[in-house]
Amino acid sequence: MSYLDRPVPQKGPPWGHNSLGASVHNALAGWWRLPLARRTPEAAGALLTQGWINEGYASDAQSATYRDWARQLVERYVAGLDPADEPVGVERTVATRTDVIAVSGRIDRLDARSSADDSGTELVVVDYKTGRHVLSVDDARSSLALALYALAAARVLRRDCRRVELHHLPTGQVLAWEHTPESLQRHLRRAEQVATECADADERMRGPLPADAYDEVFPPRPGPGCGWCDFLRHCQEGQAAAVPRRPWDGLAELLQAGPHRCPRERGARSLRGSGAFSRGLRRPRTTRLNSTAPPASLHSRKPHAGDSKASQRWPPDHDHVNYASYRYMKFS
Ligand code: SF4
Repeated sequence: MSYLDRPVPQKGPPWGHNSLGASVHNALAGWWRLPLARRTPEAAGALLTQGWINEGYASDAQSATYRDWARQLVERYVAGLDPADEPVGVERTVATRTDVIAVSGRIDRLDARSSADDSGTELVVVDYKTGRHVLSVDDARSSLALALYALAAARVLRRDCRRVELHHLPTGQVLAWEHTPESLQRHLRRAEQVATECADADERMRGPLPADAYDEVFPPRPGPGCGWCDFLRHCQEGQAAAVPRRPWDGLAELLQAGPHRCPRERGARSLRGSGAFSRGLRRPRTTRLNSTAPPASLHSRKPHAGDSKASQRWPPDHDHVNYASYRYMKFS
């Protein structure tokens, strides 16, 4: 529905959890753009407050609660940073291409750090996470988006880039993974495979296929997670399978598990979670930053009585990889 249906069906209202994530990302990016002398935790908090996106909340009071919590997040996070440790890029756009696909995306932060063998510096991809979904090293290792970021950054800046990190602000954890050239290539092949499948489906859909047969190409895959789908109002199968979620429901379920995907929603198969990573790689490091646990009251919502385990899943963080066409894959 996002990429193939034209005109694009109208989405549902904005989600509060997306507003929160965007507000935090914007504040952290703005902080690095300040002159060095002004890069204080208080300045980060002020940026968060000034740029707070007040959409998708149940009330002004709820929005204010989350704004104050998010302000604490960014203040405590930047208190653990060296303001003089200038990143190579902040919200830096990078791109690369193969014979099959062209990809481009925007990296939250790109660091230059001493390489493991002290032979120089190498680039490190840093991705901020604000959901209360607890992450693991597998999230960094299996992330197609992070691998593509690393490949594209290396190509654009002509420097090694194998380390990817998820910085989870609510828990203060850094989930890191050191890719090898082989594991990066495996991710790239995976992206090409998905793009090829999309191309095939796209061509079938744009061919002589009648509109009422579109679902043969991208069949709906309804489930409890449909309650989080932006296109639920247009999808009978999803409406039959799930209870619609309120825009602020995700704020209270941030500790739940990953996103639901279906071919109809995305216009193609999910790019996440294939588990297509190598075995026998170096043991990844997990680092804890300063703890920024949110107030207990923000964790207090109980699941609806009728919720199944699957229906309690945390809705998608913004999905990093999407595609405007099979030839041009964007990730941001
Ligand atoms: S099946 Fe569910 S996820 Fe797919 S389009 Fe319908 S409501 Fe959305």
